[in-house]
Amino acid sequence: SEKLINGRAFAARLRRDIREEAHALHAQHGILPTLAVVMVGEDPASAVYVRSKVRATEEAGMRSVAHHLPGDATEEELLTLIAALNADPSVHGILVQLPVPQQIRRDAVLDAIAPEKDVDGFHIVNAGRLAVGRRDGFVPCTPLGCLMLLKSVLPSLAGQQAVVIGASNIVGRPMAQLLQQEGCTVTVTHLKTRDVAAETRRADIVIAAAGHAGLVRGDWIKPGAIVIDVGINRVQTEEGSRIVGDVAFDEVLPHAAAITPVPGGVGPMTIACLLQNTLHAARKTLSA
Ligand code: NAD
Repeated sequence: SEKLINGRAFAARLRRDIREEAHALHAQHGILPTLAVVMVGEDPASAVYVRSKVRATEEAGMRSVAHHLPGDATEEELLTLIAALNADPSVHGILVQLPVPQQIRRDAVLDAIAPEKDVDGFHIVNAGRLAVGRRDGFVPCTPLGCLMLLKSVLPSLAGQQAVVIGASNIVGRPMAQLLQQEGCTVTVTHLKTRDVAAETRRADIVIAAAGHAGLVRGDWIKPGAIVIDVGINRVQTEEGSRIVGDVAFDEVLPHAAAITPVPGGVGPMTIACLLQNTLHAARKTLSA
């Protein structure tokens, strides 16, 4: 369908451009953009994410350094590692794969990463920059990828009514702030919202980031709206299991002007934006 927003193709183009720019930075300035990825423990889903981030970094012509701490590592051990990576001038980006085990305070970890190396954009200083509308910080990768896909079908968002479903610090909240900066009138809905559908029915743009398979139904969508599906939900089927989004895709497709599929929509953009943030972190050391 020509309504489909092909995140996989968009991300592949972005990664190719990043690869060229990374190569130029290395050739002209001797800077090899480097991402340090830290994982604590053995969570299988986290291991998959870490492997794909490492592979994508290397495919983009950048360097990755992976650090794996055991599941019983202390917060102090992790903070010591982060301090060493902060102090290492050959490391431009630092990412700690979440979630961290319960003996480690997540906020203490995020606060410890140097803001200029915080390529996930989760440090409170970068969250604050985004919140006050400054453009000099790192923006979280998933909402950044959503915005790129959205602008690929609607270059000017000014005046659009946008509804974001979900208000997490990783997706919903920064997404709403980005859309507001683009000139949208933004409504954020969450678990306490009384009637999410009443909000989405008025929306020109719907961003679904609740983590609830098939939440957004056909009759939630105004004809001609653009629908961005961030959800990644594993559901059981007769053949085993598969990944679906937060949008009941078959129902919504006839109403929407454009829609991202799952998989192949937002997912591939997240890693591409991580690479872009890493490239920017490396480039910024030139002017520092
Ligand atoms: P989260 O659990 O931290 O936050 C979910 C948010 O949605 C909360 O604010 C909650 O109040 C709200 N919510 C939950 N159920 C709702 C409902 N029925 N109606 C309205 N609001 C509801 O999750 P998250 O980290 O923000 O991730 C959201 C989804 O996006 C998950 O499916 C996750 O797997 C996916 N995700 C995808 C990518 C990607 O690269 N595509 C990246 C991050 C997260």
